[in-house]
Amino acid sequence: MAKKTKRKAVHPKLPMQQQLNLEHEGQYFDLRAIFDRLNARYFRGRLRNYKVMWGRRRKRLPKEYFVFGTIQEEDRLIRINPRLDQPFVPLWFLQYVLYHEMLHSVVPDEIGSDGRRRVHTDEFNRREREYPSYKRARRWEDENLARFFR
Ligand SMILES: [Zn+2]
Repeated sequence: MAKKTKRKAVHPKLPMQQQLNLEHEGQYFDLRAIFDRLNARYFRGRLRNYKVMWGRRRKRLPKEYFVFGTIQEEDRLIRINPRLDQPFVPLWFLQYVLYHEMLHSVVPDEIGSDGRRRVHTDEFNRREREYPSYKRARRWEDENLARFFR
C-alpha cells in the first residue's frame, strides 16, 4: 500500500491517466505499446496473452550485475527493470531489451552436455544479432552500463 502511494506521488497523473494501467506505463515509456509493435513486426503476433510490466523499484543499487529484463514463460510475464524508465535511455535500446526477452519465448532452451540448461543458445544468439539495432544497442549498453549502478 505504501508503495502505491509513493508511486502516485512520484508520477502525478491527470484524472484520465489514472485509469491507465500503471504496471506497463512508466513515466517515460509505455511497455505495452513497445511490446505490441515488436510482436507485430518481428514475431507475427505470435506472443499471445503476455503481460509486460515494469519490475519493482528497489532502493538498493545493484552491485555486480544489472538485470535489464526477465521472462517467466510459465506465467507469460515479462518484467523490465524500472531503472530503464529514464530519459537518458533511448527508445531503441529499450526496444532491444524487450526484443531480447520476447525472443526467449520463441527460441527453445537447450540442455548442454554438462546437463545445464542454456537459454542463450547459438540459435538464440543468431536471431538476436538479426535485430536491426543489435550492434548499436550492445555498444550503448557497454558505454552506459555504469549509469545504472549509481
Ligand atoms: Zn536472455
